[in-house]
Formats: sequence, structure tokens, C-alpha cells
Amino acid sequence: MPTVAQSTETDWVSRFADEVIAEAERRAPGKPIVCASGLSPSGPIHLGNLREVMTPHLVADEIRRRGYDCVHILSWDDYDRYRKVPAGIDPSWSEHIGKPLTSVPAPPGSAYANWAEHFKAPMIEALRAMGIEFHGISQTEKYTSGAYREQILHAMRHREQIDAVLDRYRTKDKPAPKKQQQKQQKPVDEAELEAAEGSGAAAEDDGSAGAAGYYPYKPYCSVCERDLTTVTSYDDETTELAYTCACGHGETVLLSEHDRGKLVWKVDWPMRWAYEGVVFEPSGVDHSSPGSSYVVGGQIVREVFGGDQPIGPMYAFVGISGMAKMSSSKGGVPTPADALEIMEAPLLRWLYARRRPNQSFKIAFDQEIQRTYDEWDALERKINDGSAQPADAAAYSRATGTATGELPRTPRPLPYRMLASVVDITTGHDEQTLRILSELDPANPVKSLDETRPRLDRAERWITTQVPAEQRTRVREEPDTELLASLGETERASLRLLLDGLDEHWSLDGLTTLVYGVPKLQAGLSADAKPTPELKVAQRAFFALLYQLLVGRDTGPRLPTLLLAVGADRVRKLLAA
Ligand SMILES: [Zn+2]
Repeated sequence: MPTVAQSTETDWVSRFADEVIAEAERRAPGKPIVCASGLSPSGPIHLGNLREVMTPHLVADEIRRRGYDCVHILSWDDYDRYRKVPAGIDPSWSEHIGKPLTSVPAPPGSAYANWAEHFKAPMIEALRAMGIEFHGISQTEKYTSGAYREQILHAMRHREQIDAVLDRYRTKDKPAPKKQQQKQQKPVDEAELEAAEGSGAAAEDDGSAGAAGYYPYKPYCSVCERDLTTVTSYDDETTELAYTCACGHGETVLLSEHDRGKLVWKVDWPMRWAYEGVVFEPSGVDHSSPGSSYVVGGQIVREVFGGDQPIGPMYAFVGISGMAKMSSSKGGVPTPADALEIMEAPLLRWLYARRRPNQSFKIAFDQEIQRTYDEWDALERKINDGSAQPADAAAYSRATGTATGELPRTPRPLPYRMLASVVDITTGHDEQTLRILSELDPANPVKSLDETRPRLDRAERWITTQVPAEQRTRVREEPDTELLASLGETERASLRLLLDGLDEHWSLDGLTTLVYGVPKLQAGLSADAKPTPELKVAQRAFFALLYQLLVGRDTGPRLPTLLLAVGADRVRKLLAA
């Protein structure tokens, strides 16, 4: 089993693991330690929400690495009400607003049984690909099977006490939204969210005290399936509960038998902390406010359910830079599955492992992804030569494997930046790509594209889906005769020097030496001369000329990569003055 941190204090994950193990030992020595996440499959699950899963995953994984039995629960809040029709879905789906997410039909064309399953499936697949081991719990299954019967009856018996706790925090202020509805993580939904908050979602958060008193339980109507219900009376002795619905239906049910309803969020969450014995569960930063569900839940779990609040760090928001419009068909939000199309799972894991939960960061879908990959490769070199700092080494180990084993990786991880340039130029033509990659390092040639996969596939996906057409590289078909004819003698000479050296320098390193060396030779300097300001100017001018002649622009992929990709014959054709 891989070990990360024998000593404590190595990184944030180790520190939380220390704390969680101590707390679990205090509560119930020897029992499996429970870490938890909750996700609402109300639509595409935003990449930003991955922190809700990654934070407990990393802590649970560290606890397992230390040999403890640890369960990572992932609660699917699929019994929540359907709040709104996302962009891109038939507006007639609004007739389902107010029903449990598992009672709403899946979007048109879906293979899944219902709305919740449709949006859970790609998330489950992404989590699997990331090596995240979890125990999924459908809240629909829990509630409709009567699993929480005693807890519900208990909450109803203690409704006045719950109401009193909630009342300590009730203000005119808008309450914080539920865990999965954090505005900053879902900028596209902001307007809709505000609207939802203004339209009664606030009351739904803690149950509203109607004319008949306060009830923490809300039935789903047995006729229209929606939660537009009001409890009008409840008898603790018989458990008879009467409700009316906006659809006109009204009935009396026995709560001791009724399985079509749920506790309101601010009671539901602490009930489950006690039910599952959760020791660690993080939540978004908007839960730090005094009336937040985490703070209120802490009081309710202790005072009403006789349980403990989990250790619950607030995590900062994760932003996305440069997501292209490609995902609008899927609701306009980037999902973990989208990220895994353009980056390998260990890299995505690393982004979360290397930052403390309270640090915000951005996941790059734009050109920055190349820098992220450069950093990752630099860290890997440090790991291999033993020079990495302990915290960096811990983050690396958490990214590349779990207590169960190592994640799949690319056997020959060529620089992402270079792979992207190559597939940009070959437009994904495998034979050409292999020809170029085999020429990078003639002493140790790439023999099969499989050696460079899956990183090659991720780079190709990035180029084709995220890089705008005007930033793509198009190698000229025909020489720029006008520009060639206008060149002075020095420029012509520089091109001749380059062409004369091509065969001898046909490798990535060789061509690097050649393109930097030509201006040195012209300045009468030796090939290993230190660059002077004048030389740098000459190099820049030479490079700009090459880009113009090869791709018709002032910039492009790194020149050695570009020359290899274009191929010697075509380079000769385009540069012959
Ligand atoms: Zn109804």
C-alpha cells in the first residue's frame, strides 16, 4: 500500500486525517470512520462541485492509507424538489417543478429512468475514472423505504424545540442557499437562483411556520407528486398528519406509515449526520454565516438528535478559466467529465490535493492548461530526483494513486504543450503524428502512439474543443512568394543557414540548437555564446520571419516542434528564397 505521510503535519490532508481519527476514536473507538459528501443531481454537476467530493475523498484516502477502516458516503440529494428547468431543456418540463428529482422524466433522448439518474451517471463515471471510492446513497431510496421513519417521528415530536433553534437565527436576511446551490460556482444559474430564493426556497430551507404551527416535514402530494403542500395538523399520539396541496388535493395520512415526504433541509442534514455517524463533511464557504445550515445543523444534531456535528471545513470556490462554448448543449456548465476529456485524472486530482480547501483556484480550459501541465511535469522531475518538498511530494502521491493502488498513467508523458502543437498541425492524423513524435528524439524514438496515450488524446481533445479556430495553426500550402521576394540578403542567408542545417539537426534538441544558433552564426558568435540584447533582437526577428513563412502569423507553436511537425520537405519548400 502506498504511503504518503508517516509523520503528521506534512500537508492539509494529513492534518485533517489526524483530527478526524482523533474525533472518531473519541466517539466510537474501533468503528469504521465515516466521511461524507452530498451532491444534488438537479442538472449537470458543475466541475466546481467536485471539491465537495475531493475534499472528503482525500481525507478518507489518507485515513485508509494509515490502515483504518473508512467509508466515504456520497449522498445523492435526489429526493430534493425539482426547482427549475435548465437552459436547453424543453420548457414544458416546468410542469414537474416541485416533484422529487427522481420523479421528473429524464431530458428527451436520455437512456436513464429519470432526471436524477441522468445527471448522476456521468458524475459517477467521472469519479470512477478519478479513482474515487465512495458509497453512494440515494436519498429517494432512504426516504421512500422508510429508513428514516424513527428520525422523522422524532423530529416531529421535537418540532417546537427545532423551531426554537431555528428562531435563534431567523432574520430578515436571505439565508444561505443549500450546499449545492452556491452562486459563485454556478454563475450561469445566478439569476435563476436569486429568483428561486425569492420565491419560497428560503422557507423551504427550514420549514415554514404556517397558521397550524411549525412542521419540519413536508409531504409530496399523493396526487400531483409536488411539494406544494401545507401541513395543517399533526397528532403525536396517532401520527395522523393532514395536509393540503396547491393542486386542491388534501388528505390525512399516518406518518408512521407515510413514505412520500422529507425533512426540510436544515433538519434533514443534521438528522443524517447522526444517522450515519458522519465525522467529516465539508461545505462551501457560504456556510460560515451565523444562520447557515452547517451552524444551525450543529445545534439541531446535538439538541434534537443527540449526535455530533462533523468536522466541517469550509471550502473556497473553484473557478474555471476559458471554458469554450462547446458545452452549451449540456447546460453551459463544465462538468468533471469535461475536464477529464482534456486532462488526465492524476492532474485533476492534483489541482485539489495541492491547495488547502480554503484556497480558491481556477481550473484552466484555456491556454493556461499548458502551464499547469508544465508545472506537473516539473514536479514529477523533482519527485524522480528526490528534490521535491514534503508537502509537494504528498500532493503528488495523492494525485497519482489511492490506498487501493496507482491510477493509470501515460507510459511516456511527452510535454502536453508539444503534443497539443503536434496534433494542432496534423489535425489528429495518426500516421503524421507518429512520424513527428518518432523524430523528436532519434536516440530513443517513440515507436507507437500508445506510449503517449492517454495524454496525447487529452491534448488532441483540448485542441479541437477548446482552442478557437483563429488560434489554431495552419501551415501554409504554398510559399509566401511575395514575402520571400522582398527579403534582404541577411534574411536570405539566415534561411539558407537553417535549411543547410536541417538534416544534421533533425530532432527536438537539434532543431532547438539550430534555430537559436543561426542568428549567432550570423553575428559571428560561437554556437554556445551567451545571448546579448542585440542577439535577442536578432533571434526574435528571425523567429517572426520563420512563423510568417510557415504559418502566416507572427507567432505559433514552439519552432523546433513546428519544424518537426511541418516536415523537412515542406520546410524546404516554404523557406526556399
Ligand atoms: Zn397536489
